[in-house]
Amino acid sequence: MSEEINKQYYSGPDGNSPFRGLGGLLRDNIKILTPYSSARDEYQGEASVFLDANENAFGSPLEQAYNRYPDPLQVEVKKRISEIKGVPPRNIFLGNGSDEAIDILFRCFCNPGVDNVILVPPTYGMYEVSANINDIKIKRVPLTTEYQLDLDGIAEAIDDHTKLIFICSPNNPTGNSMNRDDVETILANFNGIVVVDEAYINFSRQKSFIQELTEYANLVVLQTLSKAWGLAGLRVGMAFASEEIIEVMNKVKPPYNINEASQQLALKALQNIEQVNSWIKEILVQRDKLVLELKNYDSVLDIFPSDANFILVKTTDPKGIYNFLVQQGIIVRDRSKIDLCEGCLRITVGTPNENKILLQTLKDFK
Ligand SMILES: *Cc1c(COP(=O)(O)O)cnc(C)c1O
Repeated sequence: MSEEINKQYYSGPDGNSPFRGLGGLLRDNIKILTPYSSARDEYQGEASVFLDANENAFGSPLEQAYNRYPDPLQVEVKKRISEIKGVPPRNIFLGNGSDEAIDILFRCFCNPGVDNVILVPPTYGMYEVSANINDIKIKRVPLTTEYQLDLDGIAEAIDDHTKLIFICSPNNPTGNSMNRDDVETILANFNGIVVVDEAYINFSRQKSFIQELTEYANLVVLQTLSKAWGLAGLRVGMAFASEEIIEVMNKVKPPYNINEASQQLALKALQNIEQVNSWIKEILVQRDKLVLELKNYDSVLDIFPSDANFILVKTTDPKGIYNFLVQQGIIVRDRSKIDLCEGCLRITVGTPNENKILLQTLKDFK
């Protein structure tokens, strides 16, 4: 196990930070919420006859049995993640994808119709959708032309009802990492929750913000098994934060948010870290190769530096190229209608063969 695991995780405000703890940030209804108490929550210990949850005691019409409700707090999966990440299980939340963690953060902290969130576009689209579903006002502070944080703009946008700031690093769709000092400046000066979304951290040269959890009580780090880990279909996302924040998120989540099949398969996959690390290396090699090749195309104007498993490519005719590729059965993401991404397509790095097909096909685009 990692050494970090024994560190005392920071859970209260210090003298310098304006952060005054969760008391003033949480919604009042969440503060007093009595969470659902499941059959499995109420009983702890050894037993062999379970007649408490109205399950089918005979089994499942499958080779494997799924007739019992899954562990609401995913103890075994968290134990393994704890070993890999060096974070105690009590500082880990698991969601049905990190998208669920995003939604739960809004529901814990933001009063519908009253509070607001700061978003820094161009960035991941789910923050906006989740804010809209929860009726939370969005304050947009666009990234600079270098795709970095506009610290003055963010400071100006913060008001008494700003509860959350989402920062995606490496950022989707631009691919770059945010300057670490800028993120720390926000963490140290904001009396609210700073969510650092690290969905692509495994591909990055940057260190994870997980190690800053000991410094900042208002930090939430999101990661996922959907990208580098190759498990998008299982829907398992992670949030790392103070014990206090994790406890509230667990109260608000649906009791059985990670199904039994996903828990079992995630646990199995998490034993296979060598395979994932070798894929990451290969993806980075393929990414750099793809960038070098694409630079030779007349239709390619610019390729932005990427810390992720995709590249943002500025083209002469995004719509034309997109449609041309679709006709050949190749799907990329058209981001050209997004501010600061004019002309841009987002291309995920594929297998060597897939990348070859893309490059070959693109030669025929006129
Ligand atoms: C893909 C992605 C996610 C979604 O992760 P899930 O765990 O699959 O829900 C979260 N954040 C960013 C920035 C992403 O690109």
